[in-house]
Amino acid sequence: MEWHYANNGQKFGPVTEEQLLHLAQGGVIQPDTLVWHAGMTDWKPFRDAVPQAPPPVPADPYAPKRFCTSCGRQYAISELAMFGDSAICAECKPAWAQRLRQGMSSTAPMEYRYAGFWIRFLAIILDGMLTTFVFGLLFMLFFGSSVIEVFRQAAQAGRSGTDPFSLMGPMMGLSGSSRLLSTLLGIAYQAYFLSQFGATPGKMALGLKVIKTDGGPVSIGVAIGRYFATLLSGLILCIGYMMAGWDDKKRALHDRICNTLVIRTR
Ligand SMILES: [Zn+2]
Repeated sequence: MEWHYANNGQKFGPVTEEQLLHLAQGGVIQPDTLVWHAGMTDWKPFRDAVPQAPPPVPADPYAPKRFCTSCGRQYAISELAMFGDSAICAECKPAWAQRLRQGMSSTAPMEYRYAGFWIRFLAIILDGMLTTFVFGLLFMLFFGSSVIEVFRQAAQAGRSGTDPFSLMGPMMGLSGSSRLLSTLLGIAYQAYFLSQFGATPGKMALGLKVIKTDGGPVSIGVAIGRYFATLLSGLILCIGYMMAGWDDKKRALHDRICNTLVIRTR
């Protein structure tokens, strides 16, 4: 279609529809610029003559989210199609519908692929390496000077023959501070990564996600609660962690306490 347009009483064209839209994008053609093509009875403002695509609706960051039952990626609920209890993203929908046609009931239970003990163990080691590194940096930043001071006093005590137990106070203080720092770091690490990304960096690297049993994402509150529940799992030879090895949904003790699941997304 060949378009003409009028600017400041002068006629321009013909231009293709693509060029016309381009001119409109560039501001040469305004919404009230008169346009015309063969077949139109009269010149019309651009906004009335050319059907405009509605501006894209920005994604609502506060829209409730949950995970695709099939691939485990996170979407706004409005983007997911519900098949019974399963929420399926647009990408997985054809394959999922195919499976339904092949006889799988639409009310079948969640089809998540649960992450087992060993891959989760590996993720914990990766997270441990990362947090230990960050902890070292933070510790030197906050307490580096105190450590140097304790060493200086120790050296002095050694030379002057002072009772070495006089150093117990500052050393206990440092040990307490370091424990507090590592706890706060652990909480912040879990709270931030689980609530923002559904996975800590170690889990992300291995394609794992932590989700609520209802398919929803983990909130900051649940992530913090889960941190403390993992402390419980770590008691008595880490039996709480090992429970993932024999649970039907591979839940560790802290998953049972917090109603969470760890799933594979690839
Ligand atoms: Zn999907």
